[in-house]
Amino acid sequence: MSPIYRTSPVGGPPQRDFLNAVLVGTTDLRPSALLSLLKQIELCAGREPGGPRNAPRPLDLDLLLYGSRRIATPRLRVPHPRMTGRLFVLVPLADVAPRRVVPGTGKTVARLLAEARRDSTERVRRARASR
Ligand code: AMP
Repeated sequence: MSPIYRTSPVGGPPQRDFLNAVLVGTTDLRPSALLSLLKQIELCAGREPGGPRNAPRPLDLDLLLYGSRRIATPRLRVPHPRMTGRLFVLVPLADVAPRRVVPGTGKTVARLLAEARRDSTERVRRARASR
């Protein structure tokens, strides 16, 4: 797991900062079953299904990458379509997988991060450890 970062909200109504992190792991689950599991975990964390996009939420789990697969179904797109320009994704992802090539871009995570840093005004800073 990456460190946890505190980031300002991107889009949506005025709201408090987010805490972001990236986890890398192995699984026997197929992508669609993994997405279902992520959605169940969000519900367990008190997420209200069907709320407005980018509204405040207790937990938001995204499937960023699944090996070198590219997936485009109505329910699931991998790599996550909005991951490449977002510092709040790329900063923690670069902590755990800097040399991973993001399918469809031909670029490593580290390279995408360097490019996004040039273009973005997002604030992403390490969260202080909770007591
Ligand atoms: P979210 O706003 O992040 O909770 O995601 C809303 C919807 O995006 C979900 O219900 C998924 O069906 C869809 N979705 C498509 N691709 C992905 C992905 N790679 N990771 C997470 N959700 C995805």
